[in-house]
Amino acid sequence: MAGLKLVNVNKVYPNGFHAVHDMNLDIQDNEFIVFVGPSGCGKSTALRMIAGLEEITSGEIYIEDRLVNDVSPKDRDIAMVFQNYALYPHMTNYENMAFGLKLRNMPKKEIDQRVQNAADILGLQELLKNKPKELSGGQRQRIALGRAIVRDPKVFLMDEPLSNLDAKLRVQTRAEISKLHHRLKTTFIYVTHDQTEAMTMGTRIVVLKDGHVMQVDTPTNLYEKP
Ligand code: ADP
Ligand code: ADP
Repeated sequence: MAGLKLVNVNKVYPNGFHAVHDMNLDIQDNEFIVFVGPSGCGKSTALRMIAGLEEITSGEIYIEDRLVNDVSPKDRDIAMVFQNYALYPHMTNYENMAFGLKLRNMPKKEIDQRVQNAADILGLQELLKNKPKELSGGQRQRIALGRAIVRDPKVFLMDEPLSNLDAKLRVQTRAEISKLHHRLKTTFIYVTHDQTEAMTMGTRIVVLKDGHVMQVDTPTNLYEKP
């Protein structure tokens, strides 16, 4: 049934700070969900718990109906795109995209098919032999997207992926990510503090404040109703 489900999820950091309170979400397979809210409201913490990068204090997280509380990040069928791209500078762009698959011992031929396919989708064919430092910020972000796509995950997680780009590139890349979502028809969870980004990209928006979910609704219902 559902792509992703959170049931009464809480995060209390070791210093006692309660960063996420009783979060409940039921997300379908092809939704584009945006977590929006001011800095410090718990967006990253929530995303990192879904990714398995942050332990949850209580509650349950299900990905494709599988309880993943005790499943390691690499076995969760998710791929995360970071704001700083986190590309390896000594590797070519091809190797950067192939790396996660190599670690999983995927046959070379299948790795190659997946990297070529992702490069086609993102228009990266000409850049595969280059290294990340030879690329523009926007191109680097596309390599980082490619590295996520090759994994063929059930859920894409993106934490402020455009915050290092200038305004013009941000608008362009925003459109590219939306297109990617249409094409892949899989669950995207996207974190931003930018309301315009939330409104233009999300099929549903989760508004967070002080670690609480304040509203969950479509952009139209949230922003256009009087
Ligand atoms: P956002 O992504 O919305 O900016 P975060 O999820 O990063 O918010 O942080 C939520 C709150 O949790 C913030 O007040 C932050 O200071 C606090 N926080 C984040 N990481 C830790 C940590 N390791 N220990 C204690 N508090 C933390
Ligand atoms: P992914 O599947 O997200 O590409 P891998 O399974 O290839 O990641 O990760 C192997 C190791 O490489 C991770 O434990 C981490 O140390 C490092 N790594 C890979 N991708 C990233 C990233 N985007 N940011 C930081 N470290 C990463």
